[in-house]
Parts: sequence; structure tokens; C-alpha cells
Amino acid sequence: MKMKSLKEVDFEIYSLIRKEKKRETNKILMIASENYVSKAVMEAQGSLFTNKYAEGYPGRRYYGGCEYADEVERLAQERAKELFKAEHVNVQPHSGTQANMAVYLAFLKPGDTIMGMSLTHGGHLSHGSPVNFTGKIYKTVFYGVNKDTGYIDMDEVRKLAHEHKPKIIITGASAYPRTIDFNAFSEIAKEVGAYLMADIAHIAGLVATGIHPSPINASDFVTTTTHKTLRGPRGGVIMCKAEHAKGIDKAVFPGIQGGPLVHVIAAKAVAFKEALSEEFRDYQKKVVNNAKTLANALKKKGFKMVSDGTDNHLMLVDLTNLNITGKEAEEALDKAGITVNKNTIPFDTKPPTITSGIRIGTPCVTTRGMGEDEMEEIAEIIDKVLKNISNDSVIKEMKKKVQDLCKRFPIY
Ligand SMILES: *Cc1c(COP(=O)(O)O)cnc(C)c1O
Repeated sequence: MKMKSLKEVDFEIYSLIRKEKKRETNKILMIASENYVSKAVMEAQGSLFTNKYAEGYPGRRYYGGCEYADEVERLAQERAKELFKAEHVNVQPHSGTQANMAVYLAFLKPGDTIMGMSLTHGGHLSHGSPVNFTGKIYKTVFYGVNKDTGYIDMDEVRKLAHEHKPKIIITGASAYPRTIDFNAFSEIAKEVGAYLMADIAHIAGLVATGIHPSPINASDFVTTTTHKTLRGPRGGVIMCKAEHAKGIDKAVFPGIQGGPLVHVIAAKAVAFKEALSEEFRDYQKKVVNNAKTLANALKKKGFKMVSDGTDNHLMLVDLTNLNITGKEAEEALDKAGITVNKNTIPFDTKPPTITSGIRIGTPCVTTRGMGEDEMEEIAEIIDKVLKNISNDSVIKEMKKKVQDLCKRFPIY
């Protein structure tokens, strides 16, 4: 087989990759769930392990020729265990949602009750949303945040848990800016005899480096993505106590997946190695520091933050006092070259396609090397854009500032 380059084989896709590279280079990406992986991670993910079928687990495969795939997966497992101090890990889930699905399949029956954080208060689709398989297969109960404080209302969690006796309580969120008290959740789960699952998809990098408390001892299962703060390839991981290992492994394969993505597992292993470094810990510290600096700078300019600030890598801006919607803010900021996402705020009166808020995260800009000074600058730009959303000359002026910043902090 003669090997031709992508450019020769498919110019359309080649060009789109070039355009995406430009976009990721020339815009300030502040979507809280995104990051820039290292070249090493990309190299592993782009490797010829994509050719290999390896159904099963190391040493117990349904295909021949798995000797190197076995070593790759074992390395990924060992590093993940070390990183999160986990008794057992499964590195095969194709995504965060697949990781959650495997836990449910292993330990729940259709019709059982699951309890998670409401999507509109910061939870995730796979925690029971009616449009997700979880909302169709299981009975659901949702807790949320306190209207005055914006913090998770643990009294409500306890009350609902006692009232509905869920089989599993899910903690973890996609848009919650505060530290989660895993021990408090664990106590409540024990009181009602529920399993506790901590979904740390967003905060995995902070947890791995000890900057956010770890749920590993407090919960039965910990699930995560590998591509958010953890800065690895797109994918999922499940961690659990040794007693649940068999159930989890069987649920992932053959329960919900066929062959694992060995090239992605290789890239996960690289990301875990990177995450074990002192440098990565320093990076996570800067991510949080940048988020706090940005939130404070925005507050000084009169912006309202859900829960009045942040403890982690993201913040939720409540735009109601500016009289603009999340959709309008997202579009205006994108014109200026800052990419964020509209996001419902707790007790939002607008639909998820419009919303009253935006979610801003600092993992990407921190990977680029930006620090406190740049956060002040970005706050200035966001402020100008959102207070002049229909003034094209202001937006143009801000776009220039964005481009300057991007030039000073190149990506690859
Ligand atoms: C992102 C996220 C997921 C799902 O990740 P995918 O890889 O997109 O399926 C699950 N749970 C939470 C809390 C998340 O934020």
C-alpha cells in the first residue's frame, strides 16, 4: 500500500484541520471543559495502535498480537492508580458518559432511582437528564444549589436522599465553581444505603494534584474524563474499590463497548505520566489562581458571579443585571475572538438555547502560559465587549487586543 499524505488524499479535511489550528491559535479559548494537549499526547493518539483490536483486558484478550497493547494498557492503569491513589482503574471507557454508563449498568437495574445534580444547576446530562439514556432508564431525583448562596444545598441533598432512597447518589458537575464536599455526600449515601459515585470529569486535574480534595476514599466509584483539566486525549476512566473491580470491568467490556481504543489508551498513559510531574501540579495551581484573578477582576467591574466567585477552574457569570442573554454574550465575545459558552444559571428563567449566563474557564489560557496580568487584560476585554455588544468599533478594537495576546502566547 502506497502511503499518501492527508493533503494528497483528502484536501477538504486537510484544510479544515488547518483552519481549526488557526482558530485554536488565534482565539482565546475559555470553554471550561477544553484544553490543549501536549504534542506527546497527540503523537501517541495518532499512532498505529489505532490499527489494533484488543477486546478484553491485558493478559485476557480475544485477539492475538496484543503483547504491546497489553503493555500500553497496563502502563495506563498503573499510572492512573498512582495518580489518583485508586485500588482499581478501568482505562477503556471511550468517554466520560461511557464511564458513567458502565457504573450504572454494573450496579443498577432499569427503574432504580438515581439522584444527581440538576442540569440547570450545573449537573451533567448523564446524571439523569430526561433527554439522556439515564432519564429514560432510571427514575431520577435532582438536587441543586441554594438560591441565595449558589453553593450545593446539602440539607436538600439529605432530605431528598431520605425521601427517595436512591440506589446511587451522583456528585460532580459540569458548571459548579465551588469545592465539592465529598465526605458530606458520603455520609448521606451511607445513611440511606446508596452507592456514591463522584464524577470528577471537570476537576480531575485539580484532584490529581491535590488542589481539590479527592473523592477516592469517600466514594464507591469515581469516574472522569481525561480531556478536561487533566489535559489528556478525549476519553473516560473509572476508578473503584477492589471489591467492585470485576463488576466494573464486565460492564465496560462486554457490557457497553467492544474493542478498546488502544491508541487513545496510549495517549491516556502519556497524559497520566505528565500529570504525575511537579510541573503539572504547578500548572493546576495557576489554573485556579487565574480563575480567581479573572473572577475578581470581573466582579470589580460589576459582574455578578454565581456563588460570588470560584474555588476551581471555572466561573459562571450571571448576566441578568446587564440585561443581555448568554446567547448574545457568547456571540459578541466570539466576534472579538474570545470563545466561551452560554450556560444556564441556577433558577434560570430562560431556556438552555438562550440562557442568562456564560461559563468561563481558565485551563486553555493557562496551558498557553497566560497569568494574572493577562487575566486582568481579558477581564477588561470581556467588560468592554459585553457592555457594548452592538458597537462594532469597540468589538474590533477588542479583537485587536485578543490577537496581540494570542501572538504573545502561541500554542504548538
Ligand atoms: C464532560 C462531562 C462528562 C462527559 O464527558 P463526555 O466525554 O463528553 O461524554 C461527564 N460528567 C461530567 C460532570 C462532565 O462535565
